[in-house]
Amino acid sequence: MSIDVRDICFSYGKGKKKVPVLKDITFSIGRSESVGIVGKVGCGKTTLIKHLNGLLLPDSGSVTVDGLPSSKKEVCKKTGILFQHPSKQLFCRTVFEEIAYGPMNFGIRGDELDRCVHEAIREVGLAEEILERSPFSLSGGEMRLVALAGVLSSSPDHLVLDEPTSGLSSSGKANLFRILNSLKNNGVGIVLVSHQLEDVLDVVDRLIYLDNGEIVFEGTPSEYLASMPSPVPQVTELMRGLKGSGIDVKDDVFSVDHAFEEIYNAWSKRKGNF
Ligand code: ADP
Repeated sequence: MSIDVRDICFSYGKGKKKVPVLKDITFSIGRSESVGIVGKVGCGKTTLIKHLNGLLLPDSGSVTVDGLPSSKKEVCKKTGILFQHPSKQLFCRTVFEEIAYGPMNFGIRGDELDRCVHEAIREVGLAEEILERSPFSLSGGEMRLVALAGVLSSSPDHLVLDEPTSGLSSSGKANLFRILNSLKNNGVGIVLVSHQLEDVLDVVDRLIYLDNGEIVFEGTPSEYLASMPSPVPQVTELMRGLKGSGIDVKDDVFSVDHAFEEIYNAWSKRKGNF
C-alpha cells in the first residue's frame, strides 16, 4: 500500500480570484510508514491531506493510492482522515451509528458490521456501553476518540490525523500516542499533521516540512535537525544552549526523555570528577 503524490498544484478560487496553495508537491508514503507533515498555520497542510483520499482533486499532477487515482471511492477506505475538530465530524444519533457509518458506506452489514464497530471502540480504549449514547453528550476527549473509531472502523491502510493533539491534556496526548503506536505495530501507516514539531518529531519515521505550499525539507527527524537551523523544538534549543556552554551533551535531541538522559549522564560524569 503506498500513497504517491506527483507534481500536484492546487488553487482555491477561479480566474483573478485564484489563490495558489499547493505548488509542485511530490512525495510517496510507503506501507506502514509513519510520516509527519509539518509547517506553519496556513502553509497548506490540510489542503494537502484532503488530496490523499480524493476530498480535493489537484488542478494538475496526480495522487494515486495503491495505483488507484484518488477520485475512486475505494481510496476513501484505504486512507482515513481524522480532522482537527471532532465535533464537526460527528452527526449520528448514537455512537454505534457514528462508528458504523463508514463500513456501511462500503456495503458492510449484520454481524460483520457489529464486529467492525466493537473492534474500533476497543482499539480506542472506550467502554462498549458508550455505543448507545448520543455522540453529542460526550466530553471533548471522548468525542475525539469516537471520531477516531469512526475512521478506524473502515480498517484504513493509512490513518491521517490533522492536528490531533490540539486541545489535549498531556495524559490525553499520551493515550493518543499509545493508540497510534499500537496501530503502527499492526501495520497501519500513520500520517501526523501538525504545526508543532514537538508533537511529531519523536513519533514519525520521516518528516515533510511545508512552507507556503512547497516542500522545503523531506527526511528523517535527525536529518531535519542536522540540516535545518530553525524552527526546532524548545528541548533541542535547550540542548544546543547547554552544548554551546561547554556541557558534554548531544544536541540532536528532540524528546524530553532523551534530553533527560543526556543531562543526567553529563551530570553523573561531572559528579564523578569531584
Ligand atoms: P494549514 O492546514 O497549513 O493551516 P490550510 O490548507 O488550511 O493550511 O490553508 C492553506 C491556505 O488556503 C490558507 O491561506 C487558507 O486561508 C486557504 N484556504 C483554506 N481553505 C480554503 C477554502 N475552502 N477556500 C479558500 N481558501 C482556503
